[in-house]
Formats: sequence, structure tokens, C-alpha cells
Amino acid sequence: AQHFLARGKTHASLGVYLATNEDVTLAQARAADARIAAGDSAPLLGVPIAHKDIFVTKDFPSTAGSKMLEGYRSPFDATVVDRLAQAGAVTLGKLNCDEFAMGSSNENSAYAPVKNPWDTSRIPGGSSGGSAAAVAARLAPAATGTDTGGSIRQPASFCGITGIKPTYGRASRYGMIAFASSLDQAGPMARTAQDCALLLSAMCGPDPDRDSTSLDVPAEDFTRGLEASIEGLRIGVPKEFFGAGLSDDVRAAIDASLEQYVKLGAKLVDITLPRTELSIPVYYIIAPAEASSNLSRFDGVKFGHRAKQHGDLLDMYKKTRAEGFGDEVKRRIMIGTYVLSHGYYDAYYLQAQKIRRMIADDFQQAFKHCDLIAGPAAPMVAWKLDEKSDDPVANYLADIFTLPGSLAGLPGMSVPCGFGAGGMPVGLQLIGNYFKEGQLLNAAHRFQ
Ligand code: GLN
Repeated sequence: AQHFLARGKTHASLGVYLATNEDVTLAQARAADARIAAGDSAPLLGVPIAHKDIFVTKDFPSTAGSKMLEGYRSPFDATVVDRLAQAGAVTLGKLNCDEFAMGSSNENSAYAPVKNPWDTSRIPGGSSGGSAAAVAARLAPAATGTDTGGSIRQPASFCGITGIKPTYGRASRYGMIAFASSLDQAGPMARTAQDCALLLSAMCGPDPDRDSTSLDVPAEDFTRGLEASIEGLRIGVPKEFFGAGLSDDVRAAIDASLEQYVKLGAKLVDITLPRTELSIPVYYIIAPAEASSNLSRFDGVKFGHRAKQHGDLLDMYKKTRAEGFGDEVKRRIMIGTYVLSHGYYDAYYLQAQKIRRMIADDFQQAFKHCDLIAGPAAPMVAWKLDEKSDDPVANYLADIFTLPGSLAGLPGMSVPCGFGAGGMPVGLQLIGNYFKEGQLLNAAHRFQ
């Protein structure tokens, strides 16, 4: 813990941490030492990790990357934080992210943009950009992230690390500051599939009293199947993931990885996910709709920012929200409110829900012919800071390969698989069927 705290200080210019507290971290480390001395054999005893600032924590402030929650202290720990602590993990601090996890570049953080450790003139990806950069720069051995539409997989890909988003409902959302509740999932980000397996085993499991969408599927030890042979594994290659929008450098790295899988004994199968393109408009209706509802709680009354100068109650709400939220969050609240409003609900929200179902069905069709699906995590390598910061649609379009799996609630991961333009890392995305996290981690581990 001391080593990583010190490294965090010398690399402060990366903008990775939003909060650290050496006394808290070292007290947790000493408590882990005491557990070790007492013969405890919890799987992560003494392992320092850091949490995306979307998870609430008692011992550190929790901001979700927003001015709205500046200095906010939660009276409790998120279930995921709690489970990792029970498994022995020591918390190094809270990691920067896009405001309320809305973004693909981490430039929507209200505090600072995170820099990509491979090239500090570039973005780390988002929204879990702080988590990805922390692991890539070795400021933490592992970190937590959340993925609503790609926020674990895309930054993992851009920073050359491994990240997995489990099946929707496997990890409790209790204490994860909500963005889009039907999509939000927690997952680990680490150097290898093996490290991810260790963390994910601790993070998953039912939480029926605190998250009604948590599934009644017992926790698993994902480290057990890592070494299994992948001889005969059928890998589906969706043609829609290799179309005109894919940059040549990323395509070359992905093609080489697929060849590597063939050498390892896997078989490639051509498949189709015909509604891939529709996943962008569908996601950017459903996610803002849910966000507009979830973010209504930030009104300056119970917690978070309250405007200092205001007139009556309505004026207080308006000023608080105008001051507390950033541009992208406001944009989403407006889109979400619009698509849910009378007269537009049927035309937008309901249509989007129907297509979401079709996207999920397309995957089930595909899984009749393959065991898992492989393709790029993103169409390009990490772009330059400020390159797309004035163009929200350009950011949305870059999510094309992660959104379909998110809308279907499927587990997905990104595995480092080579380098593209500017020597930047490329991530191979693996998507599995429901509850096939073990198979994904096995396939990733054999590849690594
Ligand atoms: N980039 C997507 C968005 O901006 C995904 C974010 C996420 O997964 N949290 O909504």
C-alpha cells in the first residue's frame, strides 16, 4: 500500500485520483496484516485496490466526478466495496471518472481530465478512465469500474489492460451512484484475466435485500476454470464489427488475435448481429431516459450541492441543478425528459425498448452457432485530448461495439491484443452468453 500511495503522488499529473487518505489506507493495511497473522486466508488479503468514484464509500468522499456531490460523504459502503473489503482488499482511494459515468473520454469529469499513461496527450477512455489509467500506470494493481455502455471495456482497451463487465444483475448495484439502472454493472479492471477473475469472484453474488435487480445466482470462484483447454471453442466473428467504421490499425490487431485463437485450437464462425448500428440510437434514448429519472434526486434538499443565492424553492432547485451539473449531464437530462414526455414516449422510448429486445434476440440467434463472440472493443485507438470534446455525437459513435452487449445485458471483456496507430494499445472484446464470465476469463487467460 505504501508503494502504491507513493507512486500515486509522483504520478499525480495523470489526474487519476479524486481522493486519497493515507491514514485510512494504512489503517486498512494494518488490519489486513492482523488478519494474515491470525491465519485468515481471504483471497485478497492485503491487496491494495482503488475504486471508481461512482461507488460510495464511508471513509472517502464520493463525487461521481460531479460538482453536485463535491465533498459528499456516504454513511455506508457500496456492496461491491464491502465485499472486496471482506475479501481483504485495502482501499488506496477514489478514481476519477466522467461525471455520473456519462462519457467515453473522461473529459466530462468536473474535476480534471485523466491522461492516458501510454501517451499523456491522449484520453484514457471513459467513463472508467481513472481506473484504467491507474492500473496501466501501475498506481494500483487493480481497480473497480462500472460499465453502462462500455465504460469498463473501452478504457481497458485504450489503456492496454484487462477489464470485465459481468452479466447484468450479477454484481449488486447498491451504493453505485445510478446512471441508467437497467444497464449499470460493476466489474474489475486489472492487468490480467487472472487478476480480474480473483476480484470478480469477490464482487459477484446476490444482494436481494438491497438491489432488487440482483440475480439469485451464487457467487463463483472464477479462478478455477482459467487453465481449461480452449480446443474446439467456437468463436463467432460478427461481420458488422468489421465494417467501414473500423480503423485499419485496429482491424490488423484484431485479425492477428483471431489467428492466435485458431493456433490455440479455437474455430472461427461467421455470424451476424444485424442491429449493431441501431444500438447507438437505442442506447442514447434509453440511457438518458433512465438518467433523467435517477438524477432528479439531486435537488439541493437532501444531499450534495445547494445554490447559495436563491429565491423560492423552485428557484433553489433550478439554480442548484444549473450550477451542479456539467454540460453532458444536462444534455442527457434534456434528451431523457424529452423522450419520456407525453406524445414522444411512444415514438422514441417505446420503440427503443422494442429494438433493445430484438438486439438481445440477435445475440441468442448468434449463440446457436458459437460459444463466444470476438471483435474490437472500439473502432479506433485512444484519441487526443480535446479532439472530440466539443462533439458529443463523435463520442457516442465510438461506443458502437460495446453498446449491443450492454443492451442485451451480456457479459463482456476487453483483453489487450496489440498496438495500433501512435503505438497505442488495442483491446480485443470478448462477449459471452449470460453467466458465461468463467468461459470469457478462461479464453482471455489462454490468450494472455
Ligand atoms: N460512453 C457511454 C456513455 O457515455 C457509456 C458510459 C458508461 O458505460 N458508463 O453513456
